[in-house]
Amino acid sequence: MARGRLVVLSGPSGVGKDTVIQAVRRRLPELQRPVAYTTRAPRPGEEDGREYSFVSPDEFLRLREGGEFLETATVHGNLYGTSKRRVEELLQRGRDVLLKIDVQGASQLQADQPDATFIFLAPPSREVLLARLRERATESPAELARRTEDADRELAQSGWYHHLVVNDEVERAADEVVRILTGDRARSPRLPQ
Ligand code: 5GP
Repeated sequence: MARGRLVVLSGPSGVGKDTVIQAVRRRLPELQRPVAYTTRAPRPGEEDGREYSFVSPDEFLRLREGGEFLETATVHGNLYGTSKRRVEELLQRGRDVLLKIDVQGASQLQADQPDATFIFLAPPSREVLLARLRERATESPAELARRTEDADRELAQSGWYHHLVVNDEVERAADEVVRILTGDRARSPRLPQ
């Protein structure tokens, strides 16, 4: 069976990654999203094993020692990691996999996963992004300052991604991501066209 393809989507906090991913998955329901690990606390409405596997810092380090992760990163002060086992299982079954990871994690994958497609989701402007961050009710002023700093760091690293998609309008951005995914299939020698 042909191996699935790996797609990495990054973008600063507040750019609308989750909303665009939802819209992409309505168009490509077969696209898989393996559950990642994080040490951050679950937000209201989130469930362990659905949005993330929520683990303690000790448990995370134990998993890391055990070679569980394809990549790890500290984002907004919390640890995040993609499960190598979960991703490999899906790819080997021929399923396409979408990872939503920050730029530190993505750059770790750049060298290891030469066939992966890297997409950066950007805001229409920095001002629009900062306004979106301010609107988010869940964040304190200190958290907002940290997220702004992280956003600037992420925006500065968008240059090496294969594709830059501007989230000016969710449905349009999702269409563009789908076009990239279906168009890029022809680029990969390991996948049937
Ligand atoms: P949130 O906690 O709000 O769901 O995610 C915060 C940020 O963490 C996201 O913007 C995403 O870029 C990053 N993130 C989520 N999962 C992973 C992961 O498995 N690895 C890495 N490197 N970053 C992740």
